[in-house]
Amino acid sequence: MSPRVYLDYNATAVVRPEAAAAIAHALDVGGNPSSVHAAGRAARALVEQARADVAALIAAPAPTVVFTSGGTEANALALESAIAAGARRLLISAVEHDSIQETAHASGVAVEEIPVDRSGRADLTWLSERLARWDARDGRPFVALMLANNETGVIQPVAEAAELVRAADGWLHVDAVQAAGKIAIDSRALGADTLAISAHKIGGPQGVGALTFGPRATLSRRQHGGGQERGRRGGTENVPGINGFGAAAKATLQAISQPVDVEEKAAWRDAAAQRLKAAGAVVAGEAAPRLPNTLCVATPGFASDTQVMALDLAGVMVSAGAACSSGKVKQSPVLAAMGLGDLAACGLRVSGGWASTQADWNRFVDAWLEAFERHAARRAPAVAGVS
Ligand code: PLP
Repeated sequence: MSPRVYLDYNATAVVRPEAAAAIAHALDVGGNPSSVHAAGRAARALVEQARADVAALIAAPAPTVVFTSGGTEANALALESAIAAGARRLLISAVEHDSIQETAHASGVAVEEIPVDRSGRADLTWLSERLARWDARDGRPFVALMLANNETGVIQPVAEAAELVRAADGWLHVDAVQAAGKIAIDSRALGADTLAISAHKIGGPQGVGALTFGPRATLSRRQHGGGQERGRRGGTENVPGINGFGAAAKATLQAISQPVDVEEKAAWRDAAAQRLKAAGAVVAGEAAPRLPNTLCVATPGFASDTQVMALDLAGVMVSAGAACSSGKVKQSPVLAAMGLGDLAACGLRVSGGWASTQADWNRFVDAWLEAFERHAARRAPAVAGVS
């Protein structure tokens, strides 16, 4: 049997060998970065080198990088800091990740959604009008707009949004968890006041992430304790995880500086999309700029979970655009926000990465076409019966 195909990098990337080696090395070094002795200093050196490497990936000054337990915590640190600084109303795009949505709704302050158009891009006219009638009693405006969507790969107009937010003296938080490692990021040029990334989406380990902050954002103390991370997040640092993150960031930065490679991978994705479209699939966000690795397709009447299970049986691992809960297909809120109607229960997310090959994409398409034919054959008598 041919080896399994992994095309689910947006869920978690295959760990890069450089990251695995760095994790092992940090375990070998040992030491607590807060200790003053030789082992402690060696551990501290690993953490600070990783901070520099992670900062380089997002073109941020190293001292502004705060390590967290992942993208979820980095997003929460930004939101909670803005609220601690007086924000009483949060504007979040309708396609933000659950870690933004749920944290915002649990925060107790008012939350409003920035609508997106059919291609999944935030409506900046809406944002501009909303900021123009901002009530000062709501504190500084806080806006969360992700750099790229986890389901569709659609890249948001963040720099344009930043101009609007800055003119209103607001705080722009950018969830760059999916964009990192797939496109070049300059957090300052983007105009982000805070920006979150996560190690496991770029080939590092799970359970470690980072938040960078600019001069207009004041971070609050998320965890009390030993004063680590300049007092912002107490607790002994996850040195192996952080060292693996740094190594993954370094390798990733090298990889995305090779445009030929990135374009080649996008071409495999696009060729796959053409074959699926010929069978009736719709590419979500096709009209918008998208991450080069991500394909989100929706096929009328072909439920997400049916597709994922059929592909898994064929040895191809991808994700549903919609989650299946208690046997019921839940619509994808992202595709629903884009106005895709019933197609929101039929999405499939296919995402490649550093170790993916053209053969992987071809295996995916072959398996998908087979599954689709079987599905269409099962439906044919029912459709005939209707007429
Ligand atoms: N933000 C986005 C856009 C994501 O896709 C994810 C993970 O899927 C997260 C945040 C959460 O990151 P983590 O898994 O590191 O907590």
